[in-house]
Amino acid sequence: MSDIEARVRSLESILSEKGYIDSVAVDQIVEMYQTKIGPQNGAHVISKAWTEPDFMDWLKNDSTAAIHSLGYTSRQGEHIDAVFNSADVHHVVVCTLCSCYPWSVLGLPPTWYKSPPYRSRVVMEPRAVLAEFGLSLPTKTRIEVHDSTSEVRYLVVPERPAGTEDWSQERLAKLVTRNAMIGTELALSPGALS
Ligand code: FE
Repeated sequence: MSDIEARVRSLESILSEKGYIDSVAVDQIVEMYQTKIGPQNGAHVISKAWTEPDFMDWLKNDSTAAIHSLGYTSRQGEHIDAVFNSADVHHVVVCTLCSCYPWSVLGLPPTWYKSPPYRSRVVMEPRAVLAEFGLSLPTKTRIEVHDSTSEVRYLVVPERPAGTEDWSQERLAKLVTRNAMIGTELALSPGALS
């Protein structure tokens, strides 16, 4: 067992002995985040918006309701604002204060999202940070950085890749990565799947 695993195990057994938590419930929550809640939920939202104009309109007008209609309502997803990339503007999400993140559609945040360098630098020099992720945007593209809070989480809706006009929703969903929905990369190009 690693140090952190040992520490988590001790905390869990103390809390369980004192009757504050139920180990079965803890296992169920872990299982839920491993199998049911993750970036596949956000990819579903986005591929549906790409293929259904009515759903896209709903997502633009009331993101929270549109996302909740698909059953993605778990903790840290109570209020979500979808932001839409275009040729003119690229959106990227951070929580400068801590690590607020839309769990219901993206699952648990990656380690870098919680790291102090990402949280401070993406605000000061977003273009340079995105370049380090391998995303070099044209200088004419404006970058908007969204600071999440405990009240509002953001979901980036990437542009639908060219050459996917006749694709099914399921196939399109495979092009939508977790990082694309945070804004540190674009949706994959069709060639990436072959
Ligand atoms: Fe936070």
